[in-house]
Amino acid sequence: MYVKVFDKSPPPPKGKRGLSRTVLSSVRKHAKWLGLSNWTIYVKWKPVDGEYAMETDAKPEYYTAYVHVDLNELKPQFVDEYVRHELFHVRLWAYTATVEDLAHKKAFEHIRKAEESLVSDLERMPLWDELYAATRKGKNCEK
Ligand SMILES: [Zn+2]
Repeated sequence: MYVKVFDKSPPPPKGKRGLSRTVLSSVRKHAKWLGLSNWTIYVKWKPVDGEYAMETDAKPEYYTAYVHVDLNELKPQFVDEYVRHELFHVRLWAYTATVEDLAHKKAFEHIRKAEESLVSDLERMPLWDELYAATRKGKNCEK
């Protein structure tokens, strides 16, 4: 697995270096847990449209994803939650892209909303707290 800062990414804003390291660590940890070890995940520090702190683009045919992170919008306490959310979108990307190609526009919008709801549910599942607790106790869940 390769998790790296995208070559054309601007540097993290002043005072956000620690947060940028936390994001990279979180992406590595969750990519492994979500079975994305054969992917290259580029992280890019950049403003994100709207009120969001992260957005993702993926090319599943090349096992490559781009996670855009707005360090000025990202609250440190939500890093893991947001990273899980974006990486679940990566897992679902091939499915969603196929549906987008095959479904007419109105149907796709319903499916997109359903995916968003599913990803939000997955990101908040109680298993994450159990996994973090088990990891902290020394059970090696990162193998
Ligand atoms: Zn989403």
